[in-house]
Amino acid sequence: MIDATVKTLSAGLSAGKLSAVELAEEFLRRIDAHNGRINAFITVDRDLTLAEARRADDLRAAGKAGPLTGIPIAQKDIFCADGWLTTCGSKMLSNFVAPYDATVIAKFKQAGAVNLGKTNMDEFAMGSSNETSFYGSVKNPWNDQMVPGGSSGGSAAAVAARLAPAATGTDTGGSIRQPAALCGITGIKPTYGICSRYGMIAFASSLDQAGPMAKTAEDCALLLNTMAGFDPRDSTSLERPSEDYARDLDRPLSGLRIGLPREFFAAGLEQEVAAAILAAVEELKKLGATTVEVTLANAKLAIPVYYVLAPAEASSNLARFDGVRYGYRAPEYTDLDDMYCKTRAQGFGAEVKRRILIGTYVLSAGYYDAYYLQAQKIRRLIADDFAQAFKVCDVIAGPTAPNTAFKLGAKTDDPVQMYLNDLYTIPANLAGLPGMSLPCGFDRRGLPIGLQLVGDYFAEARMLNVAHQYQLATDWHMRKPTL
Ligand code: GLN
Repeated sequence: MIDATVKTLSAGLSAGKLSAVELAEEFLRRIDAHNGRINAFITVDRDLTLAEARRADDLRAAGKAGPLTGIPIAQKDIFCADGWLTTCGSKMLSNFVAPYDATVIAKFKQAGAVNLGKTNMDEFAMGSSNETSFYGSVKNPWNDQMVPGGSSGGSAAAVAARLAPAATGTDTGGSIRQPAALCGITGIKPTYGICSRYGMIAFASSLDQAGPMAKTAEDCALLLNTMAGFDPRDSTSLERPSEDYARDLDRPLSGLRIGLPREFFAAGLEQEVAAAILAAVEELKKLGATTVEVTLANAKLAIPVYYVLAPAEASSNLARFDGVRYGYRAPEYTDLDDMYCKTRAQGFGAEVKRRILIGTYVLSAGYYDAYYLQAQKIRRLIADDFAQAFKVCDVIAGPTAPNTAFKLGAKTDDPVQMYLNDLYTIPANLAGLPGMSLPCGFDRRGLPIGLQLVGDYFAEARMLNVAHQYQLATDWHMRKPTL
């Protein structure tokens, strides 16, 4: 049961071979047995989960079941879920029980999916290794000396370790794709505006986007069908007709044009990762695709641009955590100012403080034009490069991350080295484009390697098609770590 895809579990539930309660019990047992070591979940609440599972079984008995009814899903702890502790990986929200559901959570509930628990993450989604979490680092299930990637590291590790059949993530600069790559699973960040950000704790609002993480592209399509959709409560939500993201899964790849950006294969890319990516591209060619070289000349500026814009937005978004309305408040203080200062000094970790300081600096009078405005202009150039590339190709392929999982602690003292892990993922966020990662091999230490696909706006169904066809021809995505 634990190795089954969502698609298979869904068929089993429909056929009456198992109940939602049995399924939830099975995964709760797995979590009990292994979470102590992997630390993928911050909150597990047996009673809440089983109540949702019973409701799913009732829905089915009443003939109201859909494809996700009774499927347990691990939810990143960035999504507010009514009655659940929702920490965002921070001491600042360590006592915050959400009084409402994020739209994504509400949509899963409506579909009858079961909330299996809240997954560990970098504090406020700031990080690439899950080491900035107030709740301790997550261990990579393939090797517990290694990071799982971040910030959705708990979700990625939970799926890889078979503690959950699927999970949610959010991706501001790579946080779905990079941990998916480092843990050997599949994940997609849709076009900006496809999934509502309502109730999803904000990091950098112009970049944040939710998406599914699962074993297969087919499962991701199923989850995305539930997660996506217009929401009047999010002003950046796109008002478009709903679509079936699984509609193109079976389309043959003949005629597919794959763009290979020269910049994604330059210095900094680990040899073994490069080799696996090129082998995956060869496999896609065998399935009928052709390749063309494309140029993303400004992609090299993506990291500096992102580390101006994302902190700027974060400094503003995180101003709300002041000890007054909700969350942590310093126990001792002399007056209001002192309460703000002590609360924020004690409630935020080092990386979050670093971002708030950078963001406040680049937005301050005198520096705004030199940094923030400049970064916005380059952001546009990066989007323009993609627009040029998509004139000659349907989808871009390259590595998700320059390396496989690295040792816990290896980059914690060097933020710039940490930031460089998102070299290939950040450009898609800056342009608002959909991107995904899928397993395409292992390095000699047995650590997974992820292939990244980036598509034009609203090309999710096509990307999932490419990934699904690749997964029909290969079995990297079905390999699993021994726990
Ligand atoms: N690693 C990047 C950062 O630290 C991206 C994180 C994310 O996508 N949430 O900001």
